[in-house]
Amino acid sequence: MFRDMENWSLEKISVAIVAITILRYVVLAGLAWALGYVWFRRSWVRRKIISAFPEGSQIRREALHSLRSAVIFGVVGTLTVFAVRQGWTRMYFSTGDYPAMWFWFSILLTILLHDTWFYWTHRLMHHPRLFRAVHRDHHLSRNPTPWAAFAFSPMEAAVQAMIFPLAVFLFPLHPLAFGIFMMWQMFFNVIGHTGYEYNRPGFMKSWIRFLINTPTNHIMHHEFIRGNYGLYFNFWDRIMKTNHPDYEKRFLQVTAAAESDAPRNAG
Ligand SMILES: [Zn+2]
Ligand SMILES: [Zn+2]
Repeated sequence: MFRDMENWSLEKISVAIVAITILRYVVLAGLAWALGYVWFRRSWVRRKIISAFPEGSQIRREALHSLRSAVIFGVVGTLTVFAVRQGWTRMYFSTGDYPAMWFWFSILLTILLHDTWFYWTHRLMHHPRLFRAVHRDHHLSRNPTPWAAFAFSPMEAAVQAMIFPLAVFLFPLHPLAFGIFMMWQMFFNVIGHTGYEYNRPGFMKSWIRFLINTPTNHIMHHEFIRGNYGLYFNFWDRIMKTNHPDYEKRFLQVTAAAESDAPRNAG
């Protein structure tokens, strides 16, 4: 399959990247929306981090901005494919070139690299000089829906898309490994914006809280626009002491209410 793509024109590649990105986004965000905002809206409501449900106009804006981001991903992706064809990167196409273990390890490495890239660029984008121009679009949703997963300004979309060139310039990466990483990042991003906390209260008493991030963490970032800058993991926020001071308290409130019959106050 990848051998076949070697003969594709860059135009065809760019259309394919945009189409695949949009398809993945529509399927994953659409499924999360159908589950959390239509089918299980009533039975899951105790797990909703912010009780209110946003208006249709917000969802339309989130989706439009996310579709615009898909086009930017296509541009950065096509430029990276050009670099790959010039032999400037370390992307490899034959699985026999590296041990099978490396294939899986390279996915983990890309996830770790993206988490670090995201945390530091995200903190930079919150600098008062950059916030309006780069990051404000993403924060238009104070109570986001799954459709906000890629609701970025064009500049922020370009910064996010940089994970592709960064990874292939730094270490050997197979296109399929990058594809699996893309599925993971879209899945995690959609869950982080859906607005439901799926973890149990015990999560915050376990060591895993230092490692894994929760939907409550990112929803609070949208709500308060400060603190909780991390993506997949919580260790950068822990090391840099940037978790919102009420993060753990809020998580315990949401998860405790979800497990009891007591009504919960709106966040
Ligand atoms: Zn932010
Ligand atoms: Zn967000």
